[in-house]
This record gives sequence, C-alpha cells and structure tokens, in this order.
Amino acid sequence: SSLQSASLARVKPSATLAVTAQARELKRQGRDVIGLGAGEPDFDTPDNVKAAAIEAINRGETKYTDADGMPELKAAIVAKFARENGLSYETNQIHVASGGKPVIYNALVATLNPGDEVIVPAPYWVSYPDMVLLAGGEPVTVIGQEADGFKLRPEVLDAAITPRTKWIILNSPSNPTGAAYTRAELEALAEVLRKHPQVWILTDDMYEHLVYGFDYVTIAQVAPDLYDRTLTVNGVSKAYAMTGWRIGYAGGPKPLIDLMRKVASQTTSNPSSISQWAAVEALNGPQDFLPVRAAAFEKRRDLVVSMLNQAAGIRCPKPEGAFYVYPSIEGLIGKTAPSGVVIADDEIFTAELLNAEGVAVVQGAAFGLSPYFRISYATSDAVLEEACTRIQRFCASLK
Ligand code: PLP
Repeated sequence: SSLQSASLARVKPSATLAVTAQARELKRQGRDVIGLGAGEPDFDTPDNVKAAAIEAINRGETKYTDADGMPELKAAIVAKFARENGLSYETNQIHVASGGKPVIYNALVATLNPGDEVIVPAPYWVSYPDMVLLAGGEPVTVIGQEADGFKLRPEVLDAAITPRTKWIILNSPSNPTGAAYTRAELEALAEVLRKHPQVWILTDDMYEHLVYGFDYVTIAQVAPDLYDRTLTVNGVSKAYAMTGWRIGYAGGPKPLIDLMRKVASQTTSNPSSISQWAAVEALNGPQDFLPVRAAAFEKRRDLVVSMLNQAAGIRCPKPEGAFYVYPSIEGLIGKTAPSGVVIADDEIFTAELLNAEGVAVVQGAAFGLSPYFRISYATSDAVLEEACTRIQRFCASLK
C-alpha cells in the first residue's frame, strides 16, 4: 500500500514555490536569474512592528495564547473591520491563524464533507483547489475571461451552483490577475447568491490595501444580508510586509468561527504569541505608510504593463490591484524559439524564457487559465525594467 494518503494524493505541490525554487537553484549554479515568481513584498516590516515584537519578548509574552488568537489581537481585528470595511464583529467572531492560508484551510476542513463542491473562479490562487481537495471537497472551476477583466460573471456563477455547492471563494484584488471587483460587480454576484441559501462565501481580501485609483469594497459590506454566511479573510502578510511572521485572520458568523477554533485547538494551537503582538501593532499603529507603498506599487504596475505591451506577441491588461499582472501569450503560440523549441503552451513559454533570458515567471496553467503567465512586480523598478527588457528580447527572438 502507498505511504501517501488518498486525500494527499489528490494534491499537487505549489507551482509558484516550484518556480521560486528552480530560480534559486539556477542562481546557485551561477546563472544570472531574475525571479518574478514569488508573491512577496520586497519592503521591510515597519520598525514599529518589529519593536512591538521585541517588547513582547522582553515582557515575557512567550507562552500559549487562545488557540485562535489572543483577545488583544482579536480586538485590533474587530477595530480594523469596523474602521476599514464598515463590518461589525464581536471578538468571538474572529479567527486568527498562522497566515491567511491556514485560516482558509481551517474553514474548509471544518465544513466540507466528501463530495461537497467549492466554486473556485479561475484564474485562481494556486492553493484554493488543492486545499479543497485535501479537505475532502471537490473544486469546481469557473473561468473569468480576459474580456471581463478575468472576473466572474453572475450568470457563470449561477450556472455553476448545484445542490452540493458549499462555498464560493472570492479573491479581490486577485492573485494572479490583480483584478478587483467593483461594488456593482459584487452586488451582481450577491444577487445570484441570494437565490442559493446553501452557499457560503469565503472572500480572501489579502490584497485589500494594494489597489490603485480604485475604491475597495468587500462583499459582506456590499450585501449585509449575506453577512451570516460570509467569511471575510484578511491578514498582515502583504499589506504590512509581514509574510514571515505568519499571521492571518477572518471575521465571520459565530457558528463557523466556533468550528474553526475546534480545528485549531486540535491541530496547530495558537500562532506565535510574538507575531500576534506584532500584528496588534501593525493594525493599531500608524497606517500612513500604506498609501505610500501602494503608490510605489502603482508605479511598478504601470511600468510593467507598458513594457510588456511593447513586447511582440504579448497583450497585458492593466489590473486594479495586488502586485501581479497576467499577460496573454496568445500571439506567441506556435512560434519557434532560437533553441528550436516550439512555443506550444504557456508552460513551454515560461521554461524557454527562463532558459534563454533567465527570467522566472509562472505559467498560467498553474492558475487555471492559459495561455497566460503571471509576473509578480513586488521588486525594484530597476530589476523590473531589466526583466521586461529581457522578455521583449525573448519575444522578438521567436520566429
Ligand atoms: N491569499 C492569497 C490570494 C495569497 O496570494 C496569499 C499569499 O500568497 C495568501 C492568501 C496567503 O497569505 P499568508 O502568507 O498570510 O498565508
């Protein structure tokens, strides 16, 4: 019999982590590689946040906390949801875990039975379908077309819902497309969800603070009548450049939060007490650097979109947020690289780009929509310019 469990056998390893590892290995071999694969801000964690963690250590805040987060952090999260999203939660409606990823997994594991369906709009963050599979559910992929800004249309959602649908996962701004839903677009999806009271809504708002000239809203705010079946997920990883600290959180209906606490209490227990104190400072402390960083990302988005659209055969939409673009390589399919390899799909494109020019990006196939690729522009303007110049040169070399 196989060592691997049947449920884990359904899961594939993260493609974005694989690209990052491949780029790191080529670098180790002395190749000049630019990695645009990882979804991580290049900024440092703010000094006040670091100081709060050091003070927490010195105060001896180094013990177990409540499994799903300490009261001080839950209070800071309650205040954040009220201040930024107009959402009202009690502290017993808050779940904290070691990152947004485990928050989402805890929700799925707490609620999915074999055969339960979870609607995952593509292009999707790579982990959603695999977390659903590991939790015993069935991901149901629905496609957001480039012409619609890669966003889910209400009639497509409606057609995908069955009596077995347990969840729909929304992610705005999106990893990998950067697309963000307007109030009107969320209202239209809410209108569909009203007709299907068995469907729960998981909204992953991790990139909330990274929007460019765009009014951010989340679905529980737009459709308060869906509040009782919406889990609003967020975290400090992206907004506060705290990916390594591992703190994510969610607000939701108490019965769901109770189930998620039960999962955490028998698996992970609490996320690091020190990181929790750092997150308290991140959420309660000064917020003025957020628009400054967003402005820097906006400049990078504009640079990358402009340079990619000047690459032969690439078409790059201009997204509303996050730090990703999702260009089409439709115009390059069937061409031949100097190596003699035919660009048959986006996986071959990204492999050839890495070989020829040392630029690591992730193939659209990993996110459920081809022929595209994802660039993370969370790196310096100089590096982005060099990377885009290489991509232009590579595209020009295809015959
Ligand atoms: N959700 C989305 C859409 C993400 O892109 C990421 C990170 O890449 C996460 C959640 C996970 O965040 P964390 O690092 O807090 O687990």
